Amino acid sequence: MANQFALRLIWQEISPAPFESAWSIFAKLQALNAMSPRRVHSIIADPSCKDVNAHVLAFRDSSWIDFDRFSNVLGVNESRLRAAFLDQLGFAHLDQSGRFGIKVCRECLEKGYHSVFFELGFVDICPWHHKKLEPPCDYCYSTVFRSGLKKSLNQINGSISTEVMWQRQYSSCKHIQFNDGLVGKLNGLSQVEEQSIYERSAELLRWWEIVSANPELANFLSQNSFDDRDEFRLRMLFGAAELLAGKCPWPVGITRGPVRTQRWCESKCDSADNAGGRVPRASDWDVVYRSVRRHIFSHYVRPHRDCWKELSSYCRSDTKRLDSDTCCPVSLAYSAWRMSVEHLRNFEGLKSEKLRSHPVLAMTLDRPQPTNSIRAHASLLYAYFFSIWGEILHHAGVNSFAIADSNAQWNRDLITAIYSPRGACNSGESGGEWTLVFAEPTALQRKSFVSCCGRSKQKYWMISSEIQEYWTDIWLGDGRDYGQPIFKLKKYERGRLRASYKYICL
Ligand SMILES: [Zn+2]
Ligand SMILES: [Zn+2]
Ligand SMILES: [Zn+2]
Repeated sequence: MANQFALRLIWQEISPAPFESAWSIFAKLQALNAMSPRRVHSIIADPSCKDVNAHVLAFRDSSWIDFDRFSNVLGVNESRLRAAFLDQLGFAHLDQSGRFGIKVCRECLEKGYHSVFFELGFVDICPWHHKKLEPPCDYCYSTVFRSGLKKSLNQINGSISTEVMWQRQYSSCKHIQFNDGLVGKLNGLSQVEEQSIYERSAELLRWWEIVSANPELANFLSQNSFDDRDEFRLRMLFGAAELLAGKCPWPVGITRGPVRTQRWCESKCDSADNAGGRVPRASDWDVVYRSVRRHIFSHYVRPHRDCWKELSSYCRSDTKRLDSDTCCPVSLAYSAWRMSVEHLRNFEGLKSEKLRSHPVLAMTLDRPQPTNSIRAHASLLYAYFFSIWGEILHHAGVNSFAIADSNAQWNRDLITAIYSPRGACNSGESGGEWTLVFAEPTALQRKSFVSCCGRSKQKYWMISSEIQEYWTDIWLGDGRDYGQPIFKLKKYERGRLRASYKYICL
């Protein structure tokens, strides 16, 4: 078996180091053998794999590789090579088209090391050097993936003979550099350093094993990168992961807002007939909604009664020219939450007697497991309010932003729900425990108090004082359907409108 593949590539047995990324292995392979990515691909690809004609070195997905072959041509044990791929280590493989870039730690790179876990979007600090990883580099990605290393011939310093030339291979960004003439060890790590890498990586994997029992968390957190559209969800889901599995053993720069959980147990007999959607007033669902609404109003909105009186006196057109700095976050959250649940398209609907007969939203979940019980409805209504409030506080006074209603039922992404089939409860067969994770209310109260307290409260204080100017209604093209905005808030900075604005979708 060992000699099945006559071809051997040049390689040093000390590499790869523990959990060294496939990106790093492929870069070294190309340099040592002066080969293009296409050529390396043709040597290690599994001929029966359907993507085999891609001819690129896809280092974030190992499904196209024949590991037997790979291990033979390098003379390295297969398990060391498998550990270079996230999908082999229990991370979901996601289609990352359009999301590129490699994050590196320069100090690790100097020793010829790049960890496979640097490929995770949430890892942004090197745990060995305690330095922030550099922002994702597209050149690093494309050089190893498709285009190959650049080459140049150099003369050794001080040499008179023109025959003493060595080749330099590098990426345009210079993160990757190999000098043929000066090549030392591919792996410059000491044994102690390797041991520390092994231990910290194993800790992270143990943590991930617990987190990944929940598919929603696992799929989201396995991504290679996150942008600011994901920010809210990242904070919430990372908070949820830490709640489940304890603090992440690696340093991570994500701001974790305090979170609260709400749990309930459910068995099959709890499900109601209603399959989601809208339910009539005066039904059990509506009774629950009204009691949650009363609770929210008296605990969270009443302390801002002046703000609430002011905001609710506005007309529809006023709500499109609110001021991001002065608008009361909790009154705004309460209005947006009610409009979404009561399915009101018009702010004035909140005050209209006629609309009191409108059907209300039944809050149900279809993933990770379907649930449509009254208990779920109550908890989701509650969590939904705090999620909206948290999102508003995230943007208020910082960005221009809009709250949009997508016309769908409600934005499932605003809520983090974890399901465990064998929860703490023993509610009989097919019972399970649900946990919702949302922003901690006391922290939201404190932030809103600071924002409203001591503000001079003349009439229309929440309305942008600038002369109405052109406010674009064209959605900034990021391919998402934001739906109709029900509120717009402007942020002025040094007299200028911050034109790039964020969306909160309900
Ligand atoms: Zn490092
Ligand atoms: Zn680079
Ligand atoms: Zn207020």
